[in-house]
Amino acid sequence: MSLFVRTLVKKRDGGVLTEGEINDFVAGVTSGGITDEQAAALLMAICCRGMTTQETAALTFAMMRSGETWDLSRHGFVADKHSTGGVGDKATLPLAPLVASLGVKTGMMSGRGLGHTGGTLDKLEAIPGFKTGLLKPEFDALLEQLGCALIGQTENIAPADRRLYALRDVTGTVESIPLITASILSKKLATGAHAVVFDVKTGNGAFMQRTEDSRALGTALVETTRATGRKASGYITAMDRPIGVAVGNANEVAESIALLRGEGPADLKENVLLLGSDLLVASGAAADDATARRMMKENLKNGKALEKFARLIEAQGGDPRVCDDPARLPQPVRSEPVLAGSTGVVASIATREVGLLAIEIGCGRAKKADVVDPASGFRILKKPGEPVEAREPLAMIDYGPSITEAPGHASRLAACFSIAPPGTPVETLPFVVSGL
Ligand code: URA
Repeated sequence: MSLFVRTLVKKRDGGVLTEGEINDFVAGVTSGGITDEQAAALLMAICCRGMTTQETAALTFAMMRSGETWDLSRHGFVADKHSTGGVGDKATLPLAPLVASLGVKTGMMSGRGLGHTGGTLDKLEAIPGFKTGLLKPEFDALLEQLGCALIGQTENIAPADRRLYALRDVTGTVESIPLITASILSKKLATGAHAVVFDVKTGNGAFMQRTEDSRALGTALVETTRATGRKASGYITAMDRPIGVAVGNANEVAESIALLRGEGPADLKENVLLLGSDLLVASGAAADDATARRMMKENLKNGKALEKFARLIEAQGGDPRVCDDPARLPQPVRSEPVLAGSTGVVASIATREVGLLAIEIGCGRAKKADVVDPASGFRILKKPGEPVEAREPLAMIDYGPSITEAPGHASRLAACFSIAPPGTPVETLPFVVSGL
């Protein structure tokens, strides 16, 4: 029996792998010495048998070391954020410049849409000219000159994750907490931030729909990050409805700009203040949560946060005039209301289905090669608990120029809203379900 088959059999039978066995596995995945069949078999064994905290940490570090690891020490303290993703989740866009406007550097490496969730890179690229494919020297220059950088994952970060992620996708092994933890953190920790705040979503629009699963993932993310000597904190937040009004790309940028002007939806603002507060306290810029929130509210009001976003857009090749005039962002060419079928109260929103439908109108990709139309999107006008009259709009569908309107879109989006008789009590998750 080969050495790797022995590792496979050990995990298949519920054993605990040593750091050496995990390192050998990741080295084989990176070099190609381990075949797809063998790697997939170990992924399935991990998915069924689980991993201890030590095994998860060893897998994370081995995957992180499979590629470049960045040293940001010359920049002083650099803060980062990770959200497990959802529908309308645009918090990174306002958060990064807001925190940077208070003197705390924010360097964030983001991804594209995954499954039914939107991706920060697709949102940023809705800004005319904005470039996310920057390399380490450009990331360094942005941190030095501006204290803020928002870039995409480079080829050289955690290559083992790329191969394992593709295998997980086709072997039913995506939903394993140790594998998700190692996948997220191998990339996050490779980029060298000194503090990370995690936003673990829960509810019917999150990858982890049950709060206990979100808590298990969040705890693993925070503990594994702390095991590297970095600061980490986090929250479980509600994703049983979309965040804010805008779901899409250009419209989410416009909503982020509104927030940076001190306007914007209350739930998005709370999301940004919650996460930003942890980063400001972790960096020492604010003594406590109340001070951090006061500082952030001040910079939302006095224009400094928006000014930082404009400078960031300019430095990354985009048109900063969108900050003063969001009509310069890609605009839809047709809009269609989604009307309530009856009078009552919105009892729930099938959030994951809203995200999947958004992909169909061009907000994301069903296949890697699909092209996003940045002007397409939804406006979610009613949230759970809100009263609605029959034939009142629940939402609007905005179509970008490349998208063909289909008659089924409005009725399918309407079907995502469940309407209960007037006065029916509605239970939703509190926005902050708990800390981690
Ligand atoms: N995001 C990742 O990067 N990896 C996962 O496994 C899930 C979400």
